[in-house]
Amino acid sequence: MIRFFNTLSGRVEDFVPLRPGEVSLYTCGPTVYSHQHVGNMRAYVFEDLLKRFLSFSGFRVRHVMNITDVDDKTINGANAEGVSLQEYTRKYIDTFFADLETLNIRPADHYPRATDHIPEMVAIIKGLLEKGLAYRKDGSIYYSIAKFPAYGRLSKIRMDDLRPGQRVEADEYEKESVHDFALWKAPKPGEPVWETELGPGRPGWHIECSAMSAKYLGPTFDIHCGGVDNIFPHHENEIAQSEAYWGRPFVRFWLHCQHLVRDGEKMAKSKGNTTTVSELAAAGVDRLTIRYLLLSTHYRKVLNFTQEALSQAQAARQRLLDFVLALEGISTSRPAAPSLPNLIAETRRGFTDALGDDLNIAEALAALFEFIRTTNTLIGAEALGTDDARRSLDFLGEVDTVLGVLPLGKREILPEEIQERIAAREAARRAGDFRLADDIRAELVRAGVKLEDTKDGVRWKRVTKDGPRT
Ligand SMILES: [Zn+2]
Repeated sequence: MIRFFNTLSGRVEDFVPLRPGEVSLYTCGPTVYSHQHVGNMRAYVFEDLLKRFLSFSGFRVRHVMNITDVDDKTINGANAEGVSLQEYTRKYIDTFFADLETLNIRPADHYPRATDHIPEMVAIIKGLLEKGLAYRKDGSIYYSIAKFPAYGRLSKIRMDDLRPGQRVEADEYEKESVHDFALWKAPKPGEPVWETELGPGRPGWHIECSAMSAKYLGPTFDIHCGGVDNIFPHHENEIAQSEAYWGRPFVRFWLHCQHLVRDGEKMAKSKGNTTTVSELAAAGVDRLTIRYLLLSTHYRKVLNFTQEALSQAQAARQRLLDFVLALEGISTSRPAAPSLPNLIAETRRGFTDALGDDLNIAEALAALFEFIRTTNTLIGAEALGTDDARRSLDFLGEVDTVLGVLPLGKREILPEEIQERIAAREAARRAGDFRLADDIRAELVRAGVKLEDTKDGVRWKRVTKDGPRT
């Protein structure tokens, strides 16, 4: 059973998706007004770990991440440089995608952009006006939070001081201003304008996520992620918009990632203490070490980004690298070590159980390093032959479909989609769904990979229609 801490309930809950075998996931993406710093990237690495673990557990994950390319910050940035919004945001969008690749983050199924979804936002705002949850004022349209009784449920804010009709215009604001927020903003000099049924103007920030999540995942979906900064007002407002408009629950599980602090202070552009992935890479830090560092602190704990933490991540990855080299260096054929299959099975169980417990990465890594320690002892005693080495490397490959940090050298690595399907088949077998397992096996043969179940676990080889390729 997989369990996650749900911000909405404030408790760890058993995770059961809406549709068996499928998970719908929406994660708030970047506001492309500047380069994303490693504090921003931490959330995306956490979401990648979540997604990879769900895939490893046999779920098909449908993932949508929005790109905020129109809001207060992007408009201000474009105006300051005297260029169009599109021209201004393009370079930050490009770097963002490059950073995702650098950090070995698997791509989402969709990256919808706010400016491509104005009609979808207009439809919801129109509906909210008709239902009496929104009102017009000076050419803008505001959400009347007093009319949505569940307002504040996610962020647990106090509604006592709320004075109905007080409005806040800015896209981002503090908990002190629990006010009606802008869904649609009246035209202003120097701001982009869309001519719509609502009249001219441009959308506020929050409405885009309500519109785009529904378009790609439906009005109710399984998991919504973001940083803790998003809880209020952004996610609170998304709930108010979506649930009032669709009349049904919006999100079943809310998972929020804590801040990254640099030497004790939150990393933020406004604080001037940011560093980016490309700056770190230019300073000689291995890209997968950055990923390891961002991954290895539990997502609900503050991550302290220090030189020391970086060195520790480097040392941990060096141990992994040394282990892979030691296994690859085994060239003698020996009888199978009797303890290895059990050791692998126990490690797999420990690793999976830990991640199933609200992504307890520290315990999952501890299980992996315990495996390395014990196996190294066997290597030292010359108890492992080439078959055992391959078995161990295959297992590392399996674990790395979740972690994405292991250097597996020149060995052929199956494409991630194939590895995911193998993991899905294993999950189906464990769950006793042999029909699904057989279907996946047949699908893989068509993709050129033949699976063999041996007493030590599943093996694969490349095949063509006419038989083995190599
Ligand atoms: Zn959002």
